[in-house]
Amino acid sequence: MDLEQVQQLDRQYGVQAYSRNPIALDHGQGATLYDLGGRRYIDFAAGIGVLSVGTAHPRWVAAVTEQAGKLAHSSNLYYTRPYLDLAQRLCQRSGLAAAFFGNSGAEANEGAIKVARKYSFDKYGAGRGTVLTLNNSFHGRTITTLAATGQDAFHQYFFPFTEGFRRAEPTLDSIQEAAGHDVCAVLVELVQGEGGVYPLDRAFVQALAQLCRERDWLLLVDEVQTGVGRTGSLFCFQQYGVEPDVCSFAKGVAGGLPMGGFLVNEKCRQVLGPGTHGSTFGGNPVCAAAACAVLDILDDQTIAQVGEKGAYLRGKIGEMGLPCLGETRGMGLMIGIEVAQGYSNKQLCARLNQAGLLCLTAGAGLRLLPPLTITQEEMDQGLAVLKQELSSN
Ligand SMILES: *Cc1c(COP(=O)(O)O)cnc(C)c1O
Repeated sequence: MDLEQVQQLDRQYGVQAYSRNPIALDHGQGATLYDLGGRRYIDFAAGIGVLSVGTAHPRWVAAVTEQAGKLAHSSNLYYTRPYLDLAQRLCQRSGLAAAFFGNSGAEANEGAIKVARKYSFDKYGAGRGTVLTLNNSFHGRTITTLAATGQDAFHQYFFPFTEGFRRAEPTLDSIQEAAGHDVCAVLVELVQGEGGVYPLDRAFVQALAQLCRERDWLLLVDEVQTGVGRTGSLFCFQQYGVEPDVCSFAKGVAGGLPMGGFLVNEKCRQVLGPGTHGSTFGGNPVCAAAACAVLDILDDQTIAQVGEKGAYLRGKIGEMGLPCLGETRGMGLMIGIEVAQGYSNKQLCARLNQAGLLCLTAGAGLRLLPPLTITQEEMDQGLAVLKQELSSN
């Protein structure tokens, strides 16, 4: 089957909710992928930050295969080992107290919001269900997480949206202004991903954590994109010197299988009792075994290299002095690149993909989220494609 036939099938049988690159990927190894025709691509996108240990990592493949041959699913009416191994490791390496597992980032954030509202309801009764979120944030595609998302472009068509969200700028003044007696929590991404790769200011985040403690608001950190090593620590909050009450994760956690969830601290571990929350596939043994393999591969040393790799890529891109690109931003291997005036980030991204470098856009810029295990050689190959393609006007 070739690209034309694939596109024809997609038009005929797919809901046309995506604008895809004219590329049909087939297989790969690490950060090197091949399409149906055998053309090679360097992967600086990792399936939007999902393929944290690259494609077909032998240890990951072995863990998934073994678990699939043993027990694929059990429902949450029974205990299984893999989700418990995973919960234990995530708690030990994050310092948080307990984990809940679902299937996606949006679902993870819905769970975090439920923890906040119930924590507040249990303690203060009704009328304190508002969650503050930041302008330019992104929290997911369900009706509630769209309502939480701080970008007007997402607040269309699907009315009525869930009530109980109010937006602020990432400054303490703006938060204070938006605050009221109805607030139970603040939900933030420490590095705004979809919004354009904007790290929050460290002093602001620490002051916000302090304010949350004073007002007994929960601090909900959305680490769906920043989590699991992406920014150079297992979770990004560890570099900000704050402890969230709830930390959601998804994208990279299971290295390519659908898994999301959230961690809670000691204060919140009792909030969701039996019958208050659930997810049929949540903690699925195959996904959990995959995530355990991801955490094995992403040991402290590998995660320490994430910062160095990110600095290397940003340094090299800066040195190229390409007229179409501006400053780079980000943390670790979550990199935003500004696009110079007169250029379209979407067009540049499409050209790079066509030229053999898979990459992304975010906000008005380009975004790179390579596998955390990307090799020096793959980085250099990707940089060579970028330089070659973008040097020609
Ligand atoms: C991708 C993303 C989400 C949504 O995740 P899904 O798995 O697509 O539901 C939520 N928050 C952040 C910060 C994200 O990057």
